Amino acid sequence: MYRKILVPVDIAQLDRGEAILHRAEVLSDPQGEIVLLNVVEDLPSYLAIDVPTGLIEGALKEAREKLTALKAKCASRAHIELRTGQPAREILAAAEEHSADLVIIASHRPDLSNYIFGSTADRVVRHAACAVLVDR
Ligand code: ADP
Repeated sequence: MYRKILVPVDIAQLDRGEAILHRAEVLSDPQGEIVLLNVVEDLPSYLAIDVPTGLIEGALKEAREKLTALKAKCASRAHIELRTGQPAREILAAAEEHSADLVIIASHRPDLSNYIFGSTADRVVRHAACAVLVDR
């Protein structure tokens, strides 16, 4: 049983998100915490100048709505967290800040099944200081 589980979800892969959130519920200590995380990707600064204001705010709002719906669908007690930046870096930072003892991540998009891991999953497995469960 784990006391603090981080569940990073890509809102473009909500089916995978549902699967890993269910796993977290099963593996969590009854008094443990689950953090459901989405990272909204920052734009490179050379592009940001041309981007309409409010784009990131809109993306954060959409991400919050999707995670809230996922949490309700799974009847989960997870806390929702949103961050902006580079996904792997922010997932690793969140794991450290929360002192997570487990990260549960999906391996890759279903349509990329020839690859061993997606790039985010790969970086999290390589660099996390805690246990990582990769869901296939
Ligand atoms: P792919 O390249 O096939 O999309 P990734 O490694 O990027 O594979 O994604 C695998 C998993 O990593 C996702 O299902 C999710 O668990 C996590 N992940 C990827 N991007 C994000 C993101 N922006 N926010 C939170 N988690 C993410």
